[in-house]
Amino acid sequence: VAGFGVSGYSAAAGLLHVGAHVTVLSDGEPDDAARERATILETLGADIRLGEGATESLPDKTNVLVVSPGLPQQHRLAVAARSRSLPILGEVDLAWRLRSPERPAPWIGLTGTNGKTTTVQMLTSILRAAGLRTAAVGNIGDPIVDAVMDPTPYDVLAVELSNFQLWWSPGLHLRSAAVLNVAPDHLEWHPTMDEYTRTKGKIYDGCEVACVYNVEDPVTEQLVRDADVVEGCRAIGITVGVPGVSMLGIVDDVLADRAFIEERQTAAAELATLSDLPSLAPHNIANALAAAALARSFGVPTVAVRDGLRGFQLDKHRIEQVAVSEGVTYIDDSKATNTHAAQASLLAFSNVVWIAGGQAKGQSFDELVRVAKDRLRGVVLLGVDRGVIADALARLAPSVPVIDVGTPESGVMDHVVLAAGRLARSGDTVLLAPGCASKDQFPSYGARGDAFAAAVHRLG
Ligand code: ADP
Repeated sequence: VAGFGVSGYSAAAGLLHVGAHVTVLSDGEPDDAARERATILETLGADIRLGEGATESLPDKTNVLVVSPGLPQQHRLAVAARSRSLPILGEVDLAWRLRSPERPAPWIGLTGTNGKTTTVQMLTSILRAAGLRTAAVGNIGDPIVDAVMDPTPYDVLAVELSNFQLWWSPGLHLRSAAVLNVAPDHLEWHPTMDEYTRTKGKIYDGCEVACVYNVEDPVTEQLVRDADVVEGCRAIGITVGVPGVSMLGIVDDVLADRAFIEERQTAAAELATLSDLPSLAPHNIANALAAAALARSFGVPTVAVRDGLRGFQLDKHRIEQVAVSEGVTYIDDSKATNTHAAQASLLAFSNVVWIAGGQAKGQSFDELVRVAKDRLRGVVLLGVDRGVIADALARLAPSVPVIDVGTPESGVMDHVVLAAGRLARSGDTVLLAPGCASKDQFPSYGARGDAFAAAVHRLG
């Protein structure tokens, strides 16, 4: 097993459980949690090799290499396994093979550049409202291996898949699958955008009941066309507009299903009203429709879709209202760590003071600025790569006022909130949707959002 994060641990534990001889190789300096995990596996008979030099070579007796999702494609262990013609399994692929032979729970899966976690959570909420035993697993955090080895079987698993997981685990056959959207991301790992896109499409291969695509993102529809699916598997579109045949969409403020209805029925089935949703941002309506489509493909009744969406709460730092002060609404969307997410967020509000910057990961901000400039009251910039955004604004939206708070030694969010307060007028939204990763100034996107909220509350 190459890599010893949470999923590497679960993979090793699952393999030990079925009687394999397991060696774990990971060259990162182990932290306390990793040492603890190592001790547990050693008592079960695993050979754990952690720290510098641990991944220098593949042990001679290896039959199968199991890799953790983030392992580089050309990591020397993978290269060595390929040169010996050994099978390489992603941890997701391993979970697929470890499913109970008597009663394997079907998997419903989804991927996308943005919206995966929100949608998989909505999906489990709907499935549970239908009385099904399910869990949200995979990229969301809980390893799939743990779920498939759970002694109490699940009725269905809701699987969030990252591109890394799909790249290493191409052999899945999901009951139904969705690609929510495709925009440039993780190009430090994938050699080309084309490979990134094709990897997302792998989720559809072998699909049995429904391939759900996003009508507003034609790339996703093309991926369905290119997919190798089981005969009879249907292409189902979701749209925030009025749905055509075989689509779910919106009709007069109602989530309407024109896909999973009786054959001769022409009217759409009513699933829920917009007021049942946790957020009216178009991208969150799209997420709800995707979750509904996947659930409906599993035979879930309309009422469960409504019950599952009603009362559903978005996770923290995803368009989370922090406060309203002097008529200005402060929103934390710190999870918008790429331009695609930040753009969706900006388009959900009309007069916005946008807080942006951090680690730009080589992204261009031109399109985002072009699309959003008319709704920008002003921009507050922070972080190491703020120059890229400043440059796009200067070229494409020169009349938008910008305050640059830079990278102060301490209290950066106090500076940010004070600057935003100066730019905002009553009725405006101050939106933290940085379009960048946070690690230059914060331990995580969560810490960045918390610092923002604390500063908003402190400064009233
Ligand atoms: P992921 O798990 O794919 O990172 P999340 O649900 O955690 O997705 O949301 C990540 C960010 O993307 C948030 O800032 C959120 O507001 C934004 N977002 C959510 N859904 C979408 C979508 N369908 N399209 C674009 N951006 C989205």
